[in-house]
Amino acid sequence: MPWHHPKYSMVIKRRVGHEAALPYDGGMWTHDHEGFRVVQLPALRDNYIYLILPQDQASCLVVDPATAEPVIDACRQLKRRPTHVLNTHHHWDHTGANLALKQMFDCRIIGSIEDRKRIPGLDLAVCGRKPTTLGGLNIRIIETPGHTGGHIAYLIKDALFCGDTLFGAGCGRIFEGTAEQMWSSLKRLSTLPSSTRVYCAHEYTLANLDFAACVDEDNPKLSMRIKQARARRKSGLPTVPSTLSLELETNPFLRVLDHEFRKHYAVQHGISADETSVFARLRKQKDAF
Ligand SMILES: [Zn+2]
Repeated sequence: MPWHHPKYSMVIKRRVGHEAALPYDGGMWTHDHEGFRVVQLPALRDNYIYLILPQDQASCLVVDPATAEPVIDACRQLKRRPTHVLNTHHHWDHTGANLALKQMFDCRIIGSIEDRKRIPGLDLAVCGRKPTTLGGLNIRIIETPGHTGGHIAYLIKDALFCGDTLFGAGCGRIFEGTAEQMWSSLKRLSTLPSSTRVYCAHEYTLANLDFAACVDEDNPKLSMRIKQARARRKSGLPTVPSTLSLELETNPFLRVLDHEFRKHYAVQHGISADETSVFARLRKQKDAF
């Protein structure tokens, strides 16, 4: 298979290093984990594509490639060849480059067994019961239905690739599932270690924080996050990844786990204070926000 493609000749300046060295003016950020590195590529209007680079290898994994060009350019710069594409769900802005990357690199496409008929080029259908090893990395698959029926998240050590389920200060819209399903998916993610880094698929944080500020007014940690997120976006930096601990403290949809928050919200809206009712009402309120 050709490594270089004449159509994609744009030069991206190489940047390899820890995020402390931000900003990078070529639109690529890197984050180091034990045994691998995550490269974050912006795509379309607000998507992020991730490359996972196992240490001491010439290969990489690609998460949710919306478009092929940034992936091809970054792989060329980093001298890595994609062996697998990991799709969190079937939406076009997560799978748009599946076929192009498969054709160019002969890589294998991985996605949920539920999505076997609608993920372009799917080679390996997975479910939550089967962990898998790719590029020497152990990958746990977590079923997270709600945004779509077949949505899954990938956990590699302390890096969570959660697609459109959990966002910075928000969560995905419920397109195919029920509020109950989405809530149990979020709850499943909330039980991971709080140091887990949350690599979601969109830069929606500022808009989500506007909503959070309306429903969680007296949360000093939220005010602090708003300030920091605005400053980062003003400097052209991503607010993603965040950490699960930050989401637990400031994401209104995970704040549902907090008894006081839930009670307060339920009283304000005249609804039952159980987790699912409060979550469902919050999600509905956000849809109309
Ligand atoms: Zn989606």
